Amino acid sequence: MASKFLPYCHARDIFSVDIAFFKKENIKTVLADLDNTLDSYRAKMPSKRVFELKRKLEEANIELVLISNNKEKRVKPYASALGVRYLFSTHKPFKKRLLNFLNSNDIVKESVMIIGDQLLTDVVMANRAHLKVMLTEKIVKEDQWTTHINRLIDRPIRSYFRRKKKLIDWKEKM
Ligand SMILES: [Mg+2]
Repeated sequence: MASKFLPYCHARDIFSVDIAFFKKENIKTVLADLDNTLDSYRAKMPSKRVFELKRKLEEANIELVLISNNKEKRVKPYASALGVRYLFSTHKPFKKRLLNFLNSNDIVKESVMIIGDQLLTDVVMANRAHLKVMLTEKIVKEDQWTTHINRLIDRPIRSYFRRKKKLIDWKEKM
């Protein structure tokens, strides 16, 4: 199985990760996917635990930034309510928009970790850009229709990695 699908590490969800892990990895910026990583695509505003996550990261001097393939009208109000920088229409799995964004926002590649629930977009982009990536499980059952085909491909690859014990839980890297 192509290594472009293989994440650096895996977590059930972003909320269950100890902030100390990001510290240990020398992460200064967490680049989180939005839909089904932080919240359901139906959630117009950030949930309480997302605010809590942002606060905990801030305390550790780590910035939370949203990178979403979704449109500005979805991402901007959510990110503004949360008070974080964001990139909409990121065009994952393509890396160009993200790398330009990192450049123009003075974010250093070596100090970021991408977090996302999809192999075909989040993980492939991160690997193409040589960025650390944490794969998570989707937090709600439902997806936007555009994601359905990706899931059909994602599922068997994920199961394969699991069988081969290639998904390394973040705790194993502590
Ligand atoms: Mg997602």
